[in-house]
Amino acid sequence: MRTPGPLRITAAWQKYLPRARSKFDEFLPSGSGRRSLWVALIALVLAVLATLVWLAGRYEASQVQAELERDTANAVSDLRSSLSRQVQALQALQSGHFSAPNWSTEAQALLRNNRDWLRLEWRDKEWRLQTFVDSPLRTSAFERVPRTEVLNEAVQACQRARRVNGAAYSSTYFLPQPDGLGSEVMELCLPMTQAGEFVGFTVVTYSLQELLTERLGSTFGRQNELSFVEPDGTRLAIAGTQRRERRVFTSQQLMDLPGNTLLLRMDGRRGEPDLFPNVLTALVTGMSIALVTVMVLLTKDARRRLKAERDLADALAFRKAMEDSLVTGLRARDLEGRITYVNPAFCQMVGWQAEALLGQNAPMPYWPPEMVDEYQQRQAIRMAGNAPPREGFESVFMRHDGTRFPVLIIEAPLISVRGEQTGWMGAVIDISEQRRIEELSRASQERLQATARLTTVGEMASLLSHELNQPLAAIASYANGSLNLLKDPQAEPQTLDDVHMALRRIAEQAERAGRVISSVHDFVRRRDQTREAVPPQALLDAIAPLVNLQARKLQVRVHMRVDARLPRVWCDRTMVEQVLLNLARNGMQAMDLPACKDRVLVLQIKQGESRQDDAAVEFSVTDLGTGITPDVGAQLYNPFFTTKIEGMGLGLSLCRTVVEQHGGQLAFEAHAPKGTVFRFTLPSAPSGAAAHTA
Ligand code: ADP
Repeated sequence: MRTPGPLRITAAWQKYLPRARSKFDEFLPSGSGRRSLWVALIALVLAVLATLVWLAGRYEASQVQAELERDTANAVSDLRSSLSRQVQALQALQSGHFSAPNWSTEAQALLRNNRDWLRLEWRDKEWRLQTFVDSPLRTSAFERVPRTEVLNEAVQACQRARRVNGAAYSSTYFLPQPDGLGSEVMELCLPMTQAGEFVGFTVVTYSLQELLTERLGSTFGRQNELSFVEPDGTRLAIAGTQRRERRVFTSQQLMDLPGNTLLLRMDGRRGEPDLFPNVLTALVTGMSIALVTVMVLLTKDARRRLKAERDLADALAFRKAMEDSLVTGLRARDLEGRITYVNPAFCQMVGWQAEALLGQNAPMPYWPPEMVDEYQQRQAIRMAGNAPPREGFESVFMRHDGTRFPVLIIEAPLISVRGEQTGWMGAVIDISEQRRIEELSRASQERLQATARLTTVGEMASLLSHELNQPLAAIASYANGSLNLLKDPQAEPQTLDDVHMALRRIAEQAERAGRVISSVHDFVRRRDQTREAVPPQALLDAIAPLVNLQARKLQVRVHMRVDARLPRVWCDRTMVEQVLLNLARNGMQAMDLPACKDRVLVLQIKQGESRQDDAAVEFSVTDLGTGITPDVGAQLYNPFFTTKIEGMGLGLSLCRTVVEQHGGQLAFEAHAPKGTVFRFTLPSAPSGAAAHTA
């Protein structure tokens, strides 16, 4: 069994396992709930963003409107100061010489300078027209409608002027022009005084259109449309640019004049403010977009994390299910040797609850009291950092009821995610059942081997009788000869020597017969299973009488070749002898055919060639028999497979078991030109092992 690699789980995770999944589900809102939360959040952010942009637009528009209001107020003030300058110019005119030609000359000069004046009139205090001058810059305004027909407003203005003793303006009125069009005009009346005495009026007819163009056009008319309007919105005069933009900003301002109130309207035609009219809005918008982007990224990240956490919880749950279903006990210990985790299989094995085991340190409750010292030493060695054997080690644990049972423990270091060792994880396997089966199998093996030996002996019984015949016949003839010699009355000393010699021969033959019998006896009875260091030659010597016995019967020549200076082999002697005997007997039987003339059996022992195990000794048994067909070869080691009428088919199966028990391998191959070679190896005895004393 191999030790798994370091286990990358920590005991802390193990505690977390059962609750992991349910915690996740508790903590997180359901799928649709979470989605609507996100939708609400995104909608809120979008609403904030839209509001910001809208507010910025509003602010921009209000700025434009305020600017327009300012411009209108400035325009009114400019207009007012222009008008008052004109009044001053008129007063200067009045203060000149009061001769008609003089007045006309100066008035003409004034009209040239003031394009918005249509006519200047000088009237006496009885309102009679003294003289007048039309604007030299245009045709006379009163060509189509005689002046006498439109004097009403001028009269009213003059009455007012007389009353207040200052400049007064009339209300506006429409004056048709010769070209079919007309223009809105207004009268200004200024009372004329001479040396403090009222002498008449100066009347100026204004063109409202020109007033706007002349006084405001250059400054305010470039961007705006200027107009005088009636309170009901009727336009009296228009000046300035009339651009067609989408949005019009309007501002109106009253201009109070003595006797008249004009309403000045300024239409600022501006494009819609830009979507991002200023840096601040752009900045806020940019930041909002960045915020949304970050939110989207965070959402993605959260989703990824959630998935990873779910996967982790699944993996943990899977691992937990796996550990719970294991029959192998798992036990984790920290570096101080305290138990940090046990799985259900371990608890079941030792009969203790997990709660009773967690946190326990040596001596553990499942240690048999008589082993505590040994286990404590072992644990100390482990905790000192010595790695346990990779293939695990066997130990004995005690159940809660006090019964002991054998276990196999495989330990591996427990490595945390940071790569540090946090303790040891041990897999504990209850091997009591395995032990029981091994014991059963060993017992049945022994029985089989005994049976096989007895079978061999049975087969040899006839050979024995044949073999024993020779020494017995020799004994009988030596005994008869001796008796005859002793009957001879003229026995000579020579005869006595012969009897002596015969008796020695009898003793030798009897001893030989005894050896034959005892070799069989030994073979059958020897049950000693202990391993010992045996010289290879001794193994051959032990089976030689039995091999020779059969060889003689089957007319086989047996060659035994043993290399010099071979090491002793470490084996169960009886078993290996049986293997050799079986192989030799099979070989001889394979040559027991009339067609087989050359009957030679070679038993050879030499230094093993195996590179892995230089110290091995190789045994081979070669015959020149029938050989082994592939069919037979495939079943050779199956128990009870035999091609012989009286065979049991157990020999090779047992041979293989014995050789494998010794750590070797039994193999066969065809021998050229005919026959078969069976080979196996045995380990050489460790130096210092007890020598064979047989
Ligand atoms: P058994 O000798 O009782 O038949 P084994 O297990 O020893 O049982 O042998 C099984 C079979 O293997 C034999 O019956 C024989 O057919 C074959 N076999 C064994 N050794 C040889 C050999 N050296 N040459 C040819 N056949 C052999």
